[in-house]
Amino acid sequence: MHNVHTHTWDAALHFTPATIRESDLSRGYPLDLTVRLEAFLADMAAFDKVIVFGLKARRTGYWVPDEYVADFVARAPEKLIGFAACDPTQPEHLEELHCAIEQFKLRGVKLGPIYAGFDPRDSRCNAIYRYCQENGLPVLFHTGTTFNHAALLEYGRPWLFDEVAIRFPDLRMILAHCGHPFSEECLVVIRKHPHVYADVSALYYRPWQFYNTLIAAQEYRVTHKLLFGTDYPFATAQASIDGLRQVNHIVGGSGLPRVSAETIEGILQRDALALLFPQPG
Ligand SMILES: [Zn+2]
Repeated sequence: MHNVHTHTWDAALHFTPATIRESDLSRGYPLDLTVRLEAFLADMAAFDKVIVFGLKARRTGYWVPDEYVADFVARAPEKLIGFAACDPTQPEHLEELHCAIEQFKLRGVKLGPIYAGFDPRDSRCNAIYRYCQENGLPVLFHTGTTFNHAALLEYGRPWLFDEVAIRFPDLRMILAHCGHPFSEECLVVIRKHPHVYADVSALYYRPWQFYNTLIAAQEYRVTHKLLFGTDYPFATAQASIDGLRQVNHIVGGSGLPRVSAETIEGILQRDALALLFPQPG
């Protein structure tokens, strides 16, 4: 199994105090968000490959250096695939990105438009997308909502990424959290573009919304574009896997349509890395 969405960071070093306080809103109770390698690897035991990243977003108080992520990955290199983070509103962001890829050997990019406060269609992003497309680096975008009060929700709408995919048709993109709560908007974007995917991380704890997202994915025939992720440390692997496998529990004997076993196991067993990294030849 592959997990395309996990984090590493040290909250005390990489978040502002206001962001640490606000993060209690994420699950509705206080969370210790600092990621420790041993606990992380124990949680990831079920996965063969795990994509891990931090976040850079000055606007909302996140700044995880790429070197920190590279050091984390270097402690379990057979399992972990590190992504760089990039905040295009900041000077030097391109130089930092080139360094993250070429020197620290990170293999993709995490962008958080709502957190950093930029429109993903902004011309400032073109150099990032071009570099990623030319070098076979997938880009994972946070899409949908968040708890940070300073984040700009308008930049999390999944339809914004339609134009990016039209401009960069060979760029591998993941729209995180299936754009929640705008999941149907996300599904119609991934349906249009062969190399645009969505991950289902952090959705199981809103079971009604998750159920409807997966039913809509079946109806639009895009379940093959859904990738599994856990959003650790916000959610654990076992709870995420169980939440997906139990997605039909809420409908009981109501006669409502069911998410098929093929959809559920397809998400869990998908060879996400083969889809995200262009194959030679
Ligand atoms: Zn995340």
